[in-house]
Amino acid sequence: MPIVAIPSLLRNLTGGEESITVPGATIREVINNLEVRYSGMKARLCEEDHIKPGIAIYVNGLLTRGSLLERVDADAEIHFLPAIGGGIAQFETLQPIPNKLVVLTFDDGNKSDYTYVRPLLKRYGFGATFFITEGLGFLNNKDHYVTWEEIRELHEEGFEIGNHTRHHKNVNTQSKEELLADLIYIDQQCESYGIPIPETFGYPGDSRGPEAVAVLREKGYHFARRGIGPEFPYHLEGGRGPAYDPDIHHPLVIPSTGVPGPSYGFDDLVWAIEQAKDGKIAVLTFHGVPALEHPWVDVPPDQFKTYMDYLRDSGCTVIALRDLAKYVDPSESLGKSITYFP
Ligand SMILES: [Zn+2]
Repeated sequence: MPIVAIPSLLRNLTGGEESITVPGATIREVINNLEVRYSGMKARLCEEDHIKPGIAIYVNGLLTRGSLLERVDADAEIHFLPAIGGGIAQFETLQPIPNKLVVLTFDDGNKSDYTYVRPLLKRYGFGATFFITEGLGFLNNKDHYVTWEEIRELHEEGFEIGNHTRHHKNVNTQSKEELLADLIYIDQQCESYGIPIPETFGYPGDSRGPEAVAVLREKGYHFARRGIGPEFPYHLEGGRGPAYDPDIHHPLVIPSTGVPGPSYGFDDLVWAIEQAKDGKIAVLTFHGVPALEHPWVDVPPDQFKTYMDYLRDSGCTVIALRDLAKYVDPSESLGKSITYFP
């Protein structure tokens, strides 16, 4: 039977279900059968006896002419997406991307997320995402890594908790089942501490392949963040990367515009913010402040504060990765650039 991918803004009709297997030999039959199961679906997709002008239909990745009579194979994959210049009403509520929009992310659950970064960001009114893993030294070195109680507090204070996998393994070395199990483990830990299940993901060690991206897509992540390459050369001790351009980059492969470390300095940060204009967004990937176990991504607290002062004084809007949804529709991913890293 054909599979219909439900765009995020229609999932309120499907109880959150992201893909529906439904019988039908034509688009019309598929929509009629969807309507039987999810009342209201037809009215969102059709008016009178044709597809709404703002909606594009893709079958197996190819744009169709949008006819209800279009035939679909038994194993077709069907996407309903807002077409340029129109669309499903809620898409139009997206805000324009302001200049100097900055996404702040922190990887690995260093203790300083809680002791140093949290109070400073709170004082400045900045949002941020903390990507949590139970890998690295999380289980054994509680001097250097946050506890789940502290992670809960980060959430309660308005920060986002993102999934960085249970074991912090190279996802390319994991089977689909292993990666899913790692993701679900963090979900369950979050749930047991009253933290919402993460809707964003950070690739451990930046490794990413087609299978992993497919798992993230299937699991329904809205946004996932990668590192600076391949556009910029990998730098062991921090470096510059491309600004996130939602027109170009796939929402599950969002680049880091900067990964501060010992060879990254104030000029690099200023450069990153300068890239955040004309619809592009600066995404910063920090680790510990300091990252004592990983000196190659270490940022000393006084240096970090000069960075945050600059963001504040230059009028940046500083948000968590999940908050991109105010500006970017993550379901609009078709044809956007995906890069892999071993
Ligand atoms: Zn990491």
